[in-house]
Amino acid sequence: MKIGCPKEIKPQEFRVGMTPNAAREAVLAGHAVMIQTGAGVGAGFTDADYIAAGAAIVGTAAEVFAAADMVVKVKEPQPVERAMLRAGQVLFTYLHLAPDPDQTRDLLASGATCIAYETVTDDRGGLPLLAPMSEVAGRLAPQVGAWTLQKANGGRGVLMGGVPGVLPAKVLVIGGGVVGTHAGKIAAGMGADVTVLDRSINRLRYLDDVFGGQFKCGYADAATTIELARQADLIIGAVLIPGAAAPKLISRAQLAELKPGAALVDVAIDQGGCFETSRATTHQDPIYEVDGIMHYCVANMPGAVARTSTQALGNATLPFMMALANKGWKRACAEDKHLLAGLNVHAGKLTYAAVGEALGLPS
Ligand code: NAD
Repeated sequence: MKIGCPKEIKPQEFRVGMTPNAAREAVLAGHAVMIQTGAGVGAGFTDADYIAAGAAIVGTAAEVFAAADMVVKVKEPQPVERAMLRAGQVLFTYLHLAPDPDQTRDLLASGATCIAYETVTDDRGGLPLLAPMSEVAGRLAPQVGAWTLQKANGGRGVLMGGVPGVLPAKVLVIGGGVVGTHAGKIAAGMGADVTVLDRSINRLRYLDDVFGGQFKCGYADAATTIELARQADLIIGAVLIPGAAAPKLISRAQLAELKPGAALVDVAIDQGGCFETSRATTHQDPIYEVDGIMHYCVANMPGAVARTSTQALGNATLPFMMALANKGWKRACAEDKHLLAGLNVHAGKLTYAAVGEALGLPS
């Protein structure tokens, strides 16, 4: 099979769909790999790295789309990319079709077979191609929170780990799923005094079993949440209610109860945010202040560490990409219900019920 990987063109997207290591795996299995020149630069991979892996470098995205049997990307195809898709071609990437009728219409019109990373499932009921990005955002949250807490950035001027004789920062993580667990672990590793709250007793049992001693765990009722928020230097919002907007857990009025200069990192901003005063920001201008409280609400946090994110995503997508290449999409999906769950569009038809429901289209 000919596998093609174009350079990402969405603004501020520095990741790339295939690492040189993924390209090498595909080449070793007998496939031809085409990479657009410069595709890996944002993630620190040169054309020479791909050539050494056995891939061919081509000059334009048009050449990739024209020749490839399967196009592997990161972000949903932009209009100019959608226009290059064709019937019979496989597209493997994040799509997020439910809120995007224009993209859905174009993918249906293309006749291509479009498999979305975000709906591929695993045996434990998880989303294995979303989890790596939650891991990255979770581990990044204490790092950006520590930076936001610095005086020059408007924060309280508190050091996460304290120093001998000075107590460490208090960190509250609301939501103990993938993001929250990784945030708690890293904040504790920085020496902070960390509490992670969740509403799932089973999740709290797991966190207590595995991380008891590194951080404390508590039940996320409203009273406990605000009581701990009042004491916190840094609050990390990491909740998710699947398919719903994030619940607002700290209101604007409650900001007055927090410590002046406290930092809020709202990782759940891509679901609308879990603090009433959250609004999405960018890596260029990541923080703002409301009522003396600093907010960090970057919607694509993994983009800040494009190399790590590319490698983490590449590790997770590789087995699925190889199955698609080795068996063809039809047999690969027939033999793996989890990959089949990723199939969103095929030959002009919507094949994912939730997207159809969201857009009022038949599926
Ligand atoms: P997850 O499903 O693994 O975990 C969410 C946790 O929140 C669950 O354990 C759930 O029990 C808990 N929860 C739900 N309601 C709660 C409440 N009211 N109080 C306390 N806990 C509650 O999800 P995840 O992968 O950790 O993702 C968390 C959020 O981070 C999602 O909104 C996700 O989209 C977002 N995210 C953002 C970025 C970014 O760049 N900003 C990157 C990755 C993920």
